[in-house]
Amino acid sequence: MTTPIIVALDGPAGSGKSSVSMAAARRLAFAYLDTGAAYRAVAWHVLEHDIDAEDAVAVTGSLENVELTFAANPDDFAVSVGSTNVTDAIRTPHVTALVSAVARVPAVRAFLNQRFRETMANATQAGIVVEGRDITTVVAPDADARILLTADESVRMERRGLEVPPQSRDELTRLVRDRDAADARVSDFMTAADGVVTIDSTNLTFDQTVDAVVAHIRSATA
Ligand code: C5P
Repeated sequence: MTTPIIVALDGPAGSGKSSVSMAAARRLAFAYLDTGAAYRAVAWHVLEHDIDAEDAVAVTGSLENVELTFAANPDDFAVSVGSTNVTDAIRTPHVTALVSAVARVPAVRAFLNQRFRETMANATQAGIVVEGRDITTVVAPDADARILLTADESVRMERRGLEVPPQSRDELTRLVRDRDAADARVSDFMTAADGVVTIDSTNLTFDQTVDAVVAHIRSATA
């Protein structure tokens, strides 16, 4: 078996990285890994078991017997904790509000990074697109293609507003800003690290953004 091509893609909330990564993976017949979904699954588990997210020891201990599975297929993406399919449950506002605190726990990051690396190494497709916040820098700094997907804040808020349940524009802006600020304490996903190509989707349609990402992957791996 040949080693899969690794594509690392980072970006802030609302940059469109999940849908763009999924579409790019589909076009290239690559696998797809949404690392944010895995962090959300841990946050779901912490909520489900009433664990204090600020208690790093309790959070870490609760992971010992957790079986976390994520299907790395863009057409059939699913996340499970044990035998529970949490694909929809991880998108609730409760989970979104808690996820940054859980993602701050170093042992949670180490636990998930190990799973991500296994998923990358075991991909049966020709390649895998892995998206998140620290993929280009920590999880896969040697990836074949490394991309930072950005967009102006107003555009990100507008796109996010179309995805989430109706709430006031100010409230949405505050929630997204707070989450980005909390996440930025862990990894810098607003500036491209050395060797990482920035794709700014502010003035691009969804399809144009996917085209730009696929073109970069093709040229980086030619
Ligand atoms: O991408 P998404 O918004 O689903 O990510 C949910 C959360 O998971 C982020 O707000 C962040 O706290 C965490 N995360 C992370 N590192 C990653 C991916 C996500 O800390 N590589």
